[in-house]
Amino acid sequence: MDYEQFFRSQLDQLRSEGRYRVFADIERHAGNFPRATQHGDDGGRPVTVWCSNDYLGMGQHSAVLSAMHQALDRCGAGAGGTRNIAGTNHYHVLLEAELADLHGKEAALLFNSGYMSNWASLCTLAHKLPNCAVLSDASNHASMIEGIRHSRAECIVFRHNDPADLARHLAALDPARPKLVAFESVYSMDGDIAPIAEICDVADRYNAMTYLDEVHAVGLYGPRGGGISEREGLAHRLTLIEGTLAKGFGVIGGYITGSAALCDFVRSYASGFIFTTALPPTVAAGALASIRHLKTSDAERIAMHARVATLRRKLDAIGVPHLPNPSHIVPVMVGDATLCKQISDILLDRFGIYVQPINYPTVPRGTERLRLTPSPLHTEADIDRLIDALRLVWREMDVARAA
Ligand SMILES: *Cc1c(COP(=O)(O)O)cnc(C)c1O
Repeated sequence: MDYEQFFRSQLDQLRSEGRYRVFADIERHAGNFPRATQHGDDGGRPVTVWCSNDYLGMGQHSAVLSAMHQALDRCGAGAGGTRNIAGTNHYHVLLEAELADLHGKEAALLFNSGYMSNWASLCTLAHKLPNCAVLSDASNHASMIEGIRHSRAECIVFRHNDPADLARHLAALDPARPKLVAFESVYSMDGDIAPIAEICDVADRYNAMTYLDEVHAVGLYGPRGGGISEREGLAHRLTLIEGTLAKGFGVIGGYITGSAALCDFVRSYASGFIFTTALPPTVAAGALASIRHLKTSDAERIAMHARVATLRRKLDAIGVPHLPNPSHIVPVMVGDATLCKQISDILLDRFGIYVQPINYPTVPRGTERLRLTPSPLHTEADIDRLIDALRLVWREMDVARAA
């Protein structure tokens, strides 16, 4: 076997489909979201980032940066070990208490990323609960799918956001069997929101556990940033709420919250929690500052939702098609992988506007898109520059317009 040849031909396959991934080499500017420098052959040039998951710009917030500076000066660089062996820093303990409070749960457990929190928690629960059946929403994130798959439990996929389909599947299962319903609140690519109350009603009827991924909602929704479940007064109905510290909170890390026994169980059995070095104290301190800030400040959430509304209105005015949804995610639909990449390149090269193209397998083929995420720190002038650029590109490239 010619290994190198194999790798190259697989990559050529991606290129021929227009979905070979090219990373933009950017350097973010401390305290100055959404500005960055893009590094290229011709040196560096300023760009405005329009596709960040640092939805509220908290990754550049002064309270977060100063908390991280202080923790660095107090505690140094790394955690120094796994949570069990010398790695539990006081900031981890404070952060877990803060997260439990955020979701109104007894306990919380930190992971090194949201991906790991889903993977390890779903894998452990579905594997350890005897003969568990997992009911998984058809649009669930890769981290959930991989965790469920690794558990080797039976996985039944129900139609996206469809409580009736979930009920049909649950009714067909042995009532005595443990069941776990896994779903998200805000779905990241279409920006639609799950009918959480209805899904909980169905789960309760069949005595199923509920597992909600609030990754794209924490910090952004609810009076204290506790997500859609907080906004709708439903947090108490979910067995487990999972989230990230990397998106709305602007740092890195993942977590679960739930009962004391549930979190202790995952803490004690999940390989992906036990056998890895804990997050650096700086990270825990930054996340703690971010959560605390967003628990009491509504300003970022209000400004973000206002920017989202403005952008949608201006896209409508120039006839650029975007998927309507009730969230902060604005998917501008292109529907072709190569064209999507071309538009993204033009926006970056000619206008200093950075929007990564989103292609298969992240989204289904034929629904390729530019996923815009307006933040409280994008100005009206930023929006106008984006709109002017899109108007020009849509005309030049002859891209389909909204009806
Ligand atoms: C990004 C994402 C994750 C993973 O979170 P990270 O902290 O980035 O690892 C989990 N679930 C969903 C739905 C996501 O979009």
